[in-house]
Amino acid sequence: MSQQDAFYTLLTPKNVGKVILVGAGPGDPDLLTVKAMRLIQQADVIIYDRLVSDEIIAIFPPHCQSIFVGKEAGNHCVPQQQINSLLVKHALAGKQVVRLKGGDPFIFGRGGEELEALLPFNIPFEVVPGITAASGCAAYAGIPLTHRDHAQSVQFITGHLKQGQDQIDWLSLARAKHTLVFYMGLNQSSVIRHKLSAYGMSLATPIAIVERGTTAQQRVLTGELAQLETLAKQAASPALIIIGSVTLLSQQLNWFSQLENTVINIEQPLQCYS
Ligand code: SAH
Repeated sequence: MSQQDAFYTLLTPKNVGKVILVGAGPGDPDLLTVKAMRLIQQADVIIYDRLVSDEIIAIFPPHCQSIFVGKEAGNHCVPQQQINSLLVKHALAGKQVVRLKGGDPFIFGRGGEELEALLPFNIPFEVVPGITAASGCAAYAGIPLTHRDHAQSVQFITGHLKQGQDQIDWLSLARAKHTLVFYMGLNQSSVIRHKLSAYGMSLATPIAIVERGTTAQQRVLTGELAQLETLAKQAASPALIIIGSVTLLSQQLNWFSQLENTVINIEQPLQCYS
């Protein structure tokens, strides 16, 4: 507990507020849950991340105080300890605090750590799940993450790997009929390709990268595992890497890009549509 936090403990008022950890989904505001929408409207303070889309920021109520604590990969604008202290400070001031995070707060979102920081202060909290990027991006790219003909299991993996020090069981990832979804994987595309092929995955395995999924700027790049780095270089963050033969279905099931009517084929088998 920091000195500042210890100070707040001494001041703990009887009318302590509450922290609600809310998932904002992957971007499309229509993917907010009804509960998330209601709690955003009732918030006194909203503390939000970079991945919360502009369309969702636009629905923040005018009466509430909004605080941006966005993080860029490898460049934390506001240190985690400071975010924790902000949550504590506003809750102890009796506020209803919505901690709004992209996707689902418990999937690569440090939601657990932020709730743990509230425990010493007996601050009440709730969690509202959100649609995680894997579900949202896959749905909008027309990629069923499981499919009886293609994959009986799916795994979400963080690409935020320290080279040579990762704890990932690459052998189990490289098995057949298994869909892989890498979050934060663009910068590690070379490690991902090398490890998967070293552990037996064919370099011809179909892959897709979904950039800014579920938003009007969504782009889907498809190809084969051998092309992962080439595709990753063409993609901008936030983006998800999906590996497995389910990605082939996107060719026919990409309903969202057809809505926009902007299918662009760059070259075979590399494809990109937005
Ligand atoms: N808690 C979030 C994940 C945070 S980690 C969730 O459940 O979705 C941040 C990573 O999520 C990004 O680097 C990217 O890999 C992925 N991501 C989040 N939103 C995305 C989007 N709209 N399109 C593509 N990838 C996204």
